[in-house]
Amino acid sequence: MLSEQPPPRRRRIQPLDAMVSPRFGQVATFARLPHDRDLTDIDVAFLGVPFDDATTYRAGARVGPSAIREQSRLLRPYNMNVDVYPFDVLNVVDYGDVDVVPGSFIETAKKVEAVVATLLDHRVAPLVAGGDHSMALPLLRAVHRTHGPVHLVHFDSHFDFWDQHWGQRYTHGTWLRRAYEEQLLGQVLQIGIRGPQFTRDDFQYAADHGFRVVTLRELERDPEGTIRHALDAVPSDEPTYLSFDIDVVDPAYAMGTGTPEVGGLTSREALGAIQALVGHWLVGAELVEVAPPYDGPGAITSLLAANLLYEMLSVMAKNTSQGLPPPGGPEPRRDFGRVPR
Ligand code: MN
Ligand code: MN
Repeated sequence: MLSEQPPPRRRRIQPLDAMVSPRFGQVATFARLPHDRDLTDIDVAFLGVPFDDATTYRAGARVGPSAIREQSRLLRPYNMNVDVYPFDVLNVVDYGDVDVVPGSFIETAKKVEAVVATLLDHRVAPLVAGGDHSMALPLLRAVHRTHGPVHLVHFDSHFDFWDQHWGQRYTHGTWLRRAYEEQLLGQVLQIGIRGPQFTRDDFQYAADHGFRVVTLRELERDPEGTIRHALDAVPSDEPTYLSFDIDVVDPAYAMGTGTPEVGGLTSREALGAIQALVGHWLVGAELVEVAPPYDGPGAITSLLAANLLYEMLSVMAKNTSQGLPPPGGPEPRRDFGRVPR
């Protein structure tokens, strides 16, 4: 049997042209891309997970995806930081939101895993807006099913590897320990850790499990360079998953979040932190914990979140244009028997 070639592209997806349809008009989708569940010829799908029942402090991230879409109207076609036209390199759609089950982590996680598995079966990489951080666990389960253990680059002011909260093993602060226990992960890099801690022992837990921790203190002088240096330990051609908790950014720039910690990255440093991932094969990315009820005037947290997601997409596009496998995976597309839900 001849080896199967990827089918030629029949579709070319672009955001609405702002010179035809002004940016302040039309229904809000991510980056004004089409809302479409046809995955034919698609490389990346923006996906919302409006769930916040696993938060341990202030809820509100369930309205993160809709606020991020609204603030993404201003994204434009050319990324000057990364020097790429992301929508020319990759076909991207707004896949809509997962139909979450309010109040149930378990049921919602099943749905998230199923939707993301559908994307990956079609060789489509997930670009996810949360929602609280607990949803990283079903995302990683789905990614693991396709790629095996993935390296995790985790931006956060918090470790998120606690064992339980009030006896609950699935919260936005325990997903990393569960992912480790389920053997979903390769190398783990935690960047931006800061703030008052429960115990010094957490640093020992990280060390004992081989997690590389880059505290905010270590980032102070040269964030992007420090992150690039830390990433040297992660093989660049192996599948890597990016999990970005918005609370790694200082609340002065991103107050719209449930568990704010002072003394964090600036908006500019956060953009640079993502640009540091150019050259690393990203097979999925998420931006979580945006809680619009606590946002400031101008919805600045959601605006930053939209731009950070655009930066993640741009890294995927730049990598693809430079010869790394596409974000959805290098192998030929699988059959399309599975029905997207
Ligand atoms: Mn956090
Ligand atoms: Mn987190």
